[in-house]
Amino acid sequence: MIDLRSDTVTKPDETMREAAATAAVGDDVYGEDPTVTDLEARAAETVGKEAALYVPTGTMGNQVAARVHTDRGQEVLADRKSHVVKYELGGLAQHSSLQVRMLEADPRGVPTPAAVASGYVEESVHRPGTGLCCLENTHNVRGGLAIEPERIAAAASAARDLEVPVHLDGARVFNAAVALDVPVTAITEPVDSVMFCLSKGLGAPVGSMLAGSEEFIEEARRTRKLFGGGMRQVGVLAGPGLRALENVADLETDHENARALAAGLEGLEGLSVQEPETNIVLVDVAGTGLEVGDVLAELADGGVLATRFGPTTIRLCTHRDVGRADVERAVAVVEDVL
Ligand SMILES: *Cc1c(COP(=O)(O)O)cnc(C)c1O
Repeated sequence: MIDLRSDTVTKPDETMREAAATAAVGDDVYGEDPTVTDLEARAAETVGKEAALYVPTGTMGNQVAARVHTDRGQEVLADRKSHVVKYELGGLAQHSSLQVRMLEADPRGVPTPAAVASGYVEESVHRPGTGLCCLENTHNVRGGLAIEPERIAAAASAARDLEVPVHLDGARVFNAAVALDVPVTAITEPVDSVMFCLSKGLGAPVGSMLAGSEEFIEEARRTRKLFGGGMRQVGVLAGPGLRALENVADLETDHENARALAAGLEGLEGLSVQEPETNIVLVDVAGTGLEVGDVLAELADGGVLATRFGPTTIRLCTHRDVGRADVERAVAVVEDVL
């Protein structure tokens, strides 16, 4: 099978299994796992923040961040197509009693300063007040868009003017940095906190990092425990996580493969392919007259897995475990299906 459903499907390679097997461990709830402590320090340094926290999933990282930044009942500003709005089970409401004010972001998925200002709600006897602004990079649903640091900085500065903290859902923030050829800190510098995933393109089996100020991370550590995410000898997972941090430069290969995939598909009749900026390729199949479900089923029969991403759209995602030959084979299978 050529599995292009997501970059989460990568399997840990030998070096990661080795790192898991040999990791020094201790009880991390007592702060005694040296491998986790090392990973947290390196993650913080990598994104230019004072401190970081290892969390089991990106979702938990985002949810913990929202809880720490806000007070019960406040509003959160977010793009209506963002992951925190669409794919976290309404967790902002469920875990933190927050109400989302969905913004119609610009086409690149970042609220403009004007949208931030007009979405802002001042606390009063009638109104809950805005407690957080969430941004996303790369922007998943909009097609893995690599959001330029200037856009992040502009939205963050508009929020900061209103004394609203900013959290960046940077599940794939290294894809953005690599695609834009900027240091990741250029993207993370303007935000108060950032979550990024080790378990996507970087190839770790488990884990995400939440980074921010020391004070923020101290409170996030308590909230992680509250949410059931305090883990014990978790160096066996943090070891592969440390290895994953060395894989950043390889993301460029995934991006090249995504471009090759898009170029191959673009030539096929009935397909409308969004030009990939990173490792995500969105393909609108409306022009083929076929149903998305049927396309996916037939692709699977031909040995290619993709994801439904809208009424007429499928998503294909390149990653460490697919090479150029797989991509070429996938194009041939799509052609066959059509
Ligand atoms: C995958 C993803 C997450 C959540 O990560 P999980 O580890 O799957 O919980 C959050 N935000 C974005 C944009 C993602 O793509």
